[in-house]
Amino acid sequence: MKEELLFCPLGGSGEIGMNMNLYAYGTEENQKWLIVDMGITFADDSIPGIDLIYPDAGFIIEKKEDLLGIVLTHAHEDHIGSIVHIWPKLKCKIYATPFTAVLIQEKFKEKKIDITNYLKIVALNSKIDLGPFKIDFVTLTHSILEPNGLSITTPVGVVLHTGDWKVDPNPLIGNKVDEKKLRAIGEKGVIAMICDSTNVFSPGRAGSEQDVRESLLKIISNQKKRVLVTSFASNVARMESIFYIAKHTKRKISLVGRSMHRIYKAAKQCGYLKDVIEPLDPRDANKIPKENIIYLCTGSQGEPMGGLNRIANEIHPDVNLESGDTIIFSSKIIPGNEKKLYALQNLIVKRDIEVITEENAFVHVSGHANRDDLKDMYKWVKPRCIIPVHGEHRHMKEHISFAKEMQIPFNLKVENGDIIKISKDQQPEIIDKAPTGKIYLDGKIAVGLDSLSIKERKNISINGLLEITLIILNNGKIKKPIISFRGIPEEELSETFKFDLEDQIIKTCKSFAVNNFNQEKNLIDTIKHNCRKIVKEKTGKRPFTNVNVARI
Ligand SMILES: [Zn+2]
Ligand SMILES: [Zn+2]
Repeated sequence: MKEELLFCPLGGSGEIGMNMNLYAYGTEENQKWLIVDMGITFADDSIPGIDLIYPDAGFIIEKKEDLLGIVLTHAHEDHIGSIVHIWPKLKCKIYATPFTAVLIQEKFKEKKIDITNYLKIVALNSKIDLGPFKIDFVTLTHSILEPNGLSITTPVGVVLHTGDWKVDPNPLIGNKVDEKKLRAIGEKGVIAMICDSTNVFSPGRAGSEQDVRESLLKIISNQKKRVLVTSFASNVARMESIFYIAKHTKRKISLVGRSMHRIYKAAKQCGYLKDVIEPLDPRDANKIPKENIIYLCTGSQGEPMGGLNRIANEIHPDVNLESGDTIIFSSKIIPGNEKKLYALQNLIVKRDIEVITEENAFVHVSGHANRDDLKDMYKWVKPRCIIPVHGEHRHMKEHISFAKEMQIPFNLKVENGDIIKISKDQQPEIIDKAPTGKIYLDGKIAVGLDSLSIKERKNISINGLLEITLIILNNGKIKKPIISFRGIPEEELSETFKFDLEDQIIKTCKSFAVNNFNQEKNLIDTIKHNCRKIVKEKTGKRPFTNVNVARI
């Protein structure tokens, strides 16, 4: 049997979010596997009560005996968010650079799992050996500390897995993109580059954190009252910029929101943010003059529990903004969040607080490669083949066209589950399909999309709930049924309407031998059917109906 190199995305190819990729090397009988990243995606309002979604890892869980470990590129939730949920079924080693490792450790701590013996901290720009995979971590630039590309050397050749990246000439924290190292990797002959596609539609360059800092400094220098900046907590360069601006505009800074404190602490712990001024507790920030304070706050996407939402709704215990203050959204609007975010901004504007966003000022740059950044990477690495990932289908298709334009010899459009054979100098091919799917975290329980809990909640949220309790005495007599409604338009719920339902229920019971247990399911189904019919006639709604039978 011939040894071969395989790549298989289980999440993140055909969607933005929940990135999870597999590599394998060996013969069919003796294959060693590697996982790169384990992310989540956030659910939208179409699935009530679900916050987190992550890839179904069943395919690799079955192969856990041959799994060499999980390698994490960086600490964004779409790359590490599902590790605490999936890892207990794998119990393998996890490899991450220091900042990512600190955040991972915290996640496991919250779940009361001791990960110390499994978590291996990898120094920046260093190498690890995992069986047939020699992995070289390459520091890139992105919108978080320590974004790593992975140069994976195998007996077949080198694959460059970029992770999320852009070319930031002035990242402010961390090193610039190591062009020399990338060129050296390219010299060895990269047989495939598995590459971020997020910004492939955007011309020019993604831009630099330094430019954002300068622009924000100008904007904030002109403010006369309180300033609140909201951004992603994980963007530590942005955080450092706000500290820098506070110092240079003679303001104090106060961090608001749990994740802002969490990231600040983690960054400090890893030796970053060494020279920044000491932040003030929000309770003390209240006491200083308006022109002397900047808040840096979570909730830039309008998250209901985010700090900003509570401030806008005037329910935050420590931060009160008022007319004349300014809120700067130093962030982009993630597609899908527009409605929520505009509602929040309207609320703020109505209170006469100024709103500055990327729509009316230069306050944000993206962390992903625009087309000119991609061109640079192609030029340095000279890959034989491009396999786009980290994008919806439209991004990945555009990325293929772009690769063709750039004269890359081979390319392949993939989707979750494709098992791709990567060879030295041939077009890669999809040779098989792994089972894939999504797991929905419903409270603490992982369920599939066809789970009863989700279906019932959707049904109740649209149609309302009708609850009937039937009390059957052992002599076969039936007590007056107890009927209650939730979420049904009220005008129609008159007493006579309730009588109609009661009549219907009693009538149905009489047509059954109610003391015959074998008939109970039939009886319940018939009551459900008849009652829903009455409610539909009166209100136009067919409520989710529950019938309880109590026997006395
Ligand atoms: Zn990502
Ligand atoms: Zn990222």
